[in-house]
Amino acid sequence: MFENLSERLSGVFDRLTKQGALSEDDVKTALREVRVALLEADVSLPVARDFVKAIQEKATGQAVTKSVTPGQQVIKIVHDELVHVLTGDEDPGALKIDSPPAPILMVGLQGSGKTTTTAKLAKRLKEKNGKRVLMASLDVNRPAAMEQLAILGAQIGVDTLPIVPGQKPVDIAKRAKQQATMGGYDVYMLDTAGRLHIDEVLMDEVQAVRDVANPRETLLVVDGLTGQDAVNVASEFDGKVGISGVVLTRMDGDGRGGAALSMRAVTGKPIRFVGLGEKMDAVEEFHPERIAGRILG
Ligand code: GDP
Repeated sequence: MFENLSERLSGVFDRLTKQGALSEDDVKTALREVRVALLEADVSLPVARDFVKAIQEKATGQAVTKSVTPGQQVIKIVHDELVHVLTGDEDPGALKIDSPPAPILMVGLQGSGKTTTTAKLAKRLKEKNGKRVLMASLDVNRPAAMEQLAILGAQIGVDTLPIVPGQKPVDIAKRAKQQATMGGYDVYMLDTAGRLHIDEVLMDEVQAVRDVANPRETLLVVDGLTGQDAVNVASEFDGKVGISGVVLTRMDGDGRGGAALSMRAVTGKPIRFVGLGEKMDAVEEFHPERIAGRILG
């Protein structure tokens, strides 16, 4: 995911570490290159600007120019700033699932990986947390999406709410709650419908479901490959329905990584998980340190 950014930064830092003493100009030049690298990775402009400014303030101090290993010092400062901008949840994987049956609402655009992520997280809850999970698809416009969730459920050994044709999403949400209560489930996950674009109909539907389900977590699934678009989608969903966190999918792909770097700073919402492939185990908690390490190689 961060190959390009990583390569660019290591070029900048290689040059820095080869030099002995650094002048303020050396640092300035390097930071200009860092800024360009961030923008090319599709990090939003204000985030890139603040990022570089923060590093500049720390790096132009005596500590760096007088240090024996000034290049290393700069890398350390960049690392710490990366961790800062990536700031996530203290415990990203800890979903709020007390007071069973706890509803988790999954929202996002069509094709973002929402259904796959719903099943991945259900599997995780079952295997890691020992929870009994029920999944329900609310995508009444796409019977294939409902089928897909049922197939994934069978594959991972997680129950899905039986499909009843003709029901509205809010009625399916109510039925899911009923079944989860009667069946003694710990968690029920509502996989809402996605559309190709954000529109009023989609938002109205998600709001109606949210009001009925009163979810403990509302996770937005966004395609990490879409860069700043992913961040815009997150801002819109958060404004309209309120989200408790983001799952960035396709982080195994060759995207530029900007979404991960801008998400928290722009939306104020933490990235909770990242999707790293199509398989049901390909999901990880989001850890800033790990990502910063990957970026800096
Ligand atoms: P939905 O329309 O949002 O429900 O999207 P789906 O869950 O059907 O996913 C669309 C496609 O993206 C499927 O082929 C998934 O296997 C794939 N997909 C989902 N998450 C990831 C991921 O993290 N990495 C990769 N490489 N593919 C993913």
